[in-house]
This record gives sequence, C-alpha cells and structure tokens, in this order.
Amino acid sequence: MLPRRRQELPPTAGLPLHWHDLRPGTPALAAALAAQLGTPPLQLACSGTACLLIALTTLAALRPQRRVVVVPAFTCPLVAIAVHQAGLELRLCDLRRGHYDMDPAALHAACDEQTLAIIPTHLAGRVADVDAALAVAHTVGAYVIEDAAQALGARQHGASVGLAGDIGFFSLAAGKGLSIYEGGLLLARDPVLRERLQDTARRIVPRSMHMECRRSIELLGYAALYRPAGLRLAYGNRLRRALQHGDPVAAVGDDFPLTIPLHRVGCWRRAVGAHAARRLPAFLDQLAAQAQRRITRLRGIAGIDVLDDPADSRGVWPFLLLLLPSQRQRDAALAQLWSRGYGVSRLFIHALTDYAYLAGIVPAQGVPNARDLAARSLSISNSPWLTDADMEAICCVLATATR
Ligand SMILES: *Cc1c(COP(=O)(O)O)cnc(C)c1O
Repeated sequence: MLPRRRQELPPTAGLPLHWHDLRPGTPALAAALAAQLGTPPLQLACSGTACLLIALTTLAALRPQRRVVVVPAFTCPLVAIAVHQAGLELRLCDLRRGHYDMDPAALHAACDEQTLAIIPTHLAGRVADVDAALAVAHTVGAYVIEDAAQALGARQHGASVGLAGDIGFFSLAAGKGLSIYEGGLLLARDPVLRERLQDTARRIVPRSMHMECRRSIELLGYAALYRPAGLRLAYGNRLRRALQHGDPVAAVGDDFPLTIPLHRVGCWRRAVGAHAARRLPAFLDQLAAQAQRRITRLRGIAGIDVLDDPADSRGVWPFLLLLLPSQRQRDAALAQLWSRGYGVSRLFIHALTDYAYLAGIVPAQGVPNARDLAARSLSISNSPWLTDADMEAICCVLATATR
C-alpha cells in the first residue's frame, strides 16, 4: 500500500501566487493577456461559465428562432448549467472512442436548422478539432463557441485557441492555470460580435459589492493555501471526507449550484491577476517540458494511453489525462492513489447524462463513448511540486494495476 504523501499535491498545476502579487496596481489583466497571447481585446467576466452565458445570450438574440446548443457528452457540468440558465436546450454529442473530441458522424447527426451553437472543448488543455465543428456548423448555419476553460495559452495553427470559432472563452478559476479565484475571459475575432458581447455584459451583469468582497477574501485564502503546506486544509481533507462518504462527485467538486452568479470583477483582483500573468509564459513552458518527459515515462507502461495534441498544435498541461484498458484497472489504480496526496484524481466523474442532480436540465441520451472515457480515465497533476520520485511511485501503482 502506498503511504500517504507528507504534503498534499494539487490535482492541477495552477500558477502559485506570490505575496507581492497582492499589492494594488494597474487592473490591466485582460490587456496583458491579450498582448501575451496575441489575440484581439479580451473581455473579462466573473467566471468561465459567465462567459459562456454571455456568449449564448448574445447569439440567441442574433438567431432567436434557434434554441439548441450541442456540447460534448463528457464536459464540465457548468456548461449544461449555463445552457439552461440562458433558456436554451441542451443536446449531447458522443465522443470519438477513447478521445476527447466529439465524434464527427455523431456531431453531424446532432445538428440541424434548430442548432444555435456547437461547443468544441479543449479538454484538459488538449487542442480540440475545431475545424470539424466549423464544417458542420457551416452546413447548418450554427455558431461555434470554443470552450477553452482549461486551455489558456494553448495554440493551434500558430494562433491562440478560441479564435477559429466565432467566440471562445478561458477560465481563471482556482486551479485552472492563472487564477483570480473566479474569473473568465471572452474572445472573438469579429469586432462587431465583440461589441455585442460587451453590450450583453453591460445589460445582464450587475455590480455586487457583496460578491466582490467574498471573491477577494477567497483569493486571499487561495494565495495563502495554494502551496504544499496548505493544500491538505484547502483541498485534501475535503476530498478524503467525500470519498469516505462514497461521494466521488463531491470529491472532485462536480456538484455545482444550478444558478450562476453574475457580477463585475473589481480592480484589485484584476491587478493581482495582471501581476501574476507576467510569470505565466515561463510557467507554461516549464509545465510543457515536464509533461513531455512524463508522457514518455507513462507510455513505457503497457496498456497506458496518454491523451495528446493533434498535429500543428501546442496545448497546455495542467494535468495529464490517462486512459487505462478497463474500468476495473482504473479503479484499482485510484484505490491506491486518489486519497494519498499525490495529485491523482478524476477529471469529471460522469458523462453529463449520468449526474443525478442535472436530470432536469440534461436530456437522457445514449453516449457510450463518453461513459467509457469517464470510466477508464484518471488525471495526474502536472504541478511542479510533483517530484520525479512521486512520479515513479505513481507509475509503479499504474504498472501493477495494468499487469
Ligand atoms: C471549469 C470549466 C468551465 C467553467 O469555468 P468556470 O470559470 O469554472 O466557471 C467550463 N468548461 C470546462 C471544460 C471547464 O473545465
């Protein structure tokens, strides 16, 4: 049995905050990131989900006769909640077998003249096949929204992800790379659409002193505890409690409220993000180099498949997403690793159809490949705090589980 690690590792490689990030400064977070990524102006919102809600509200006003939004069947439950809150109808698209992309034939079948938008998703920092979604979108006249919540900094064909589709969004939530505890960024190539997204936000997003105070305190807590000495308190104890109660959905934080808060992001949090953003390019390079080494090591274990990027693209590496040959073997590995502090976890527990609490807003659909991905995958943190010795301990468990 693997002993509990002395200090807790985070499940994803967030950029740690420094104390001097917390000083006041110019609140130029969106401008700094647009310059770094080489994108048109970015629009800051209070979460990635809020970005999606603003995007859907904007597009629904442009095409009021279209109501259906097509999403991959294995994605963040918040995506389903945003579609519901926008007053639209969700349709799931199954995945390619053993892959994060939507299956092209299933996508074709899921889309028609009712389709408002298709949401290809850069899951786990991997670069999604946006071109396939664009091809289907063009035939039915739908929009494409790139969900790049987990992929800030990822590039395809030499440009930031999020620009090939009509709209894209990034998340700045805790644990997703650069964080201001909760935040998100919208991007769009077309200046007219950018104007419309801003108009929508002005219309539906209120100021809230109360929410901004709360997020500011949460950001201070994140700055204090997002380190190996603090993560047991901030993350590990809750994880182990949920697993003991047999509640994996709570363990990975898949249990979201069904209403998305909307409010404007204050100057101080924007300044904190702008300070930290200066370290982001070097941090992402460091993570990419570490990921490449560890993928090579993992692929040396028979039966392990590590999800990687397509040609001419360079994703980001908050964690490595692995597929084991069977659910039984995946569960055997997790039984050793999940609660031991090694940053090994699961991405989402279920395909979207299988969350009991989403039953009212997600249609019941057969999505065997999404279920298969949920059943056979696990994630390994790509945090720089995870040492080569930790990685060897993890590989040893994986080798035993797949033997
Ligand atoms: C986290 C996440 C979101 C939502 O982003 P928040 O900033 O947490 O609201 C959307 N899509 C995916 C794939 C995500 O992982």
